[in-house]
Amino acid sequence: MKLQLIGTGSITAPQTSASSLINDHILIDCGTGVIKELLKQQVNIFNIDIILITHLHADHFFDLPYIVLLRSFNQITNNLKIYGPKNLKKVVNTLFEIGYADLEDVEKIFSDGNTSIVEFDNLEEEIDGYLIKSILVEHGKTKPSYGYIIEKNGKSIGFSGDSCYCQTIDYLVDSCDVSVLECSFPYNSEEHMGPETIEQLAKKGKIAVTHMSLYTREKLEKKNIDNLIIGKDGDIFHI
Ligand SMILES: [Zn+2]
Repeated sequence: MKLQLIGTGSITAPQTSASSLINDHILIDCGTGVIKELLKQQVNIFNIDIILITHLHADHFFDLPYIVLLRSFNQITNNLKIYGPKNLKKVVNTLFEIGYADLEDVEKIFSDGNTSIVEFDNLEEEIDGYLIKSILVEHGKTKPSYGYIIEKNGKSIGFSGDSCYCQTIDYLVDSCDVSVLECSFPYNSEEHMGPETIEQLAKKGKIAVTHMSLYTREKLEKKNIDNLIIGKDGDIFHI
């Protein structure tokens, strides 16, 4: 599988919001700046036919209206399914209401671009030859917050979404060939993992770290941790 790190920053970093792309067609999270970053990295956004949203914080889904609009304007005919937690449809409609109040029929924008939103409690589905599973993670008071595991041809890539250190993260690192883990702050909290946790997890499995503030990135770089990829926007790996 091809893994492309589209964005590797947190909202306080110059890098784009955390987002990853699998085999040019499965996008994990679509927060602020992600559409522009995809275009900068010369990704054909109309090849993306699955988007997995981890949770309903702005830096993980605020760019969704743009992809919905672009597909409609360009009369794209392949289906795009956007998977995410309960209320995803409501919050995306709210973004349309406040951002494009002149649009009278948002449903039509969705149907013109063959775009649909699928809300789930627990996702475990074979889609286009990929097994896609959601996993529940711990992200402070934000519930539900999901990570994902994507499997194909005996290989698996895990995504933490936003999470503190919890059992699910151990499971992810133990069971996936590569885990894309967040490290938002330079310390551990109830919402996020810090560099010390990442250092411990890197002893158990291959990790690419993302969702970093500038200071967190610097702290991780100084640690020189074996088996750890400190993600940069545009990095591509083959797994
Ligand atoms: Zn979050």
